[in-house]
Amino acid sequence: TPLLIAARSTACRTIVERAPVTRNLVSRFVAGSTLEQALPAVEELTRDRYVTLDHLGEDVTDAEQAGATVTAYTRLLEELGRAGLGARAEVSVKLSAVGQFLPFDGEKIALENARHICEAAARVGTTVTLDMEDHTTTDSTLSILRELRVDYPSAGAVLQAYLHRTEADCRDLRYEGSRVRLCKGAYDEPASVAYRDRTKVDRSYVRCMRTLMAGAGYPMIASHDPSMVTIAGRIAADNGRPADSYEFQMLYGIRDAEQVRLAAKGNRMRVYVPYGEQWYGYFMRRLAERPANVAFFARSLLTR
Ligand code: FAD
Repeated sequence: TPLLIAARSTACRTIVERAPVTRNLVSRFVAGSTLEQALPAVEELTRDRYVTLDHLGEDVTDAEQAGATVTAYTRLLEELGRAGLGARAEVSVKLSAVGQFLPFDGEKIALENARHICEAAARVGTTVTLDMEDHTTTDSTLSILRELRVDYPSAGAVLQAYLHRTEADCRDLRYEGSRVRLCKGAYDEPASVAYRDRTKVDRSYVRCMRTLMAGAGYPMIASHDPSMVTIAGRIAADNGRPADSYEFQMLYGIRDAEQVRLAAKGNRMRVYVPYGEQWYGYFMRRLAERPANVAFFARSLLTR
């Protein structure tokens, strides 16, 4: 929790960004600060896996920054097309980075901007998944997604198992063609809306997997948790699902050997690859998830 608070603090951000060792450490989780740096990693990964690319950034404060995000994604998608990666790589977009919270017409601006990104994705034969942010954004994000899906039916959603509402959302979104990424959830949420206990989150995750796998949609199981991965395989088999009717997803730099193993067994395995200059929020959420990551960070600060 302190790390999630730090993730939103400007003072902490300045300290961490300026620490000399941070760069090396960040490169463990982030594929590069530019698209040119990230592309070789993507090409390498797509040999046996699939990829979703995230241009790092969140919470823009004016329409110009939101427009810059759209330009970054359009450029990214053109490059994916040029590299012939449209069938193996899609993009993940945070609506807060395309204007969702701008004071005037934020939602409308975000919808229009997301439409431009979906259009650019369609041009190179790929698609978009809308990342999910904190619970105050869930309704707005799902309603923007509904509108996008009218023209871009393959646009994907993310649901977070730690929210009480998510089982019901899984039922609503398990129709044919519906791509849903199920994750545990990465934000610090109040007990009024979310399970705070790990076991309860895990149980909810399993219930949500059952709901999605029993439906007609395309579940995307985003977790590094060995139990969740095993249970997902079992539930898929129980539902008679072929290996290409769902996929596993993990983050860049996390459990790489397990990613390779799952792909080699004939599963679809997609890696979420973040790149860009604005890595701070993303990086701090990864530290918060796993004490071993913090220890690794602390050790590198001391041994430098
Ligand atoms: P945890 O509950 O963190 O870990 C469970 C177990 O997994 C650990 O005990 C350990 O055995 C194993 N494990 C975990 N990490 C490691 C590691 N580094 N090395 C070895 N073993 C490990 N969150 C959102 O809120 N919105 C999003 O849009 C979103 N998108 C995501 C997309 C992808 C592809 C992924 C993988 C995650 C995404 N998340 C998102 C983050 C997610 O919500 C969780 O915060 C994060 O994945 C940690 O939960 P977990 O299920 O991976 O396992």
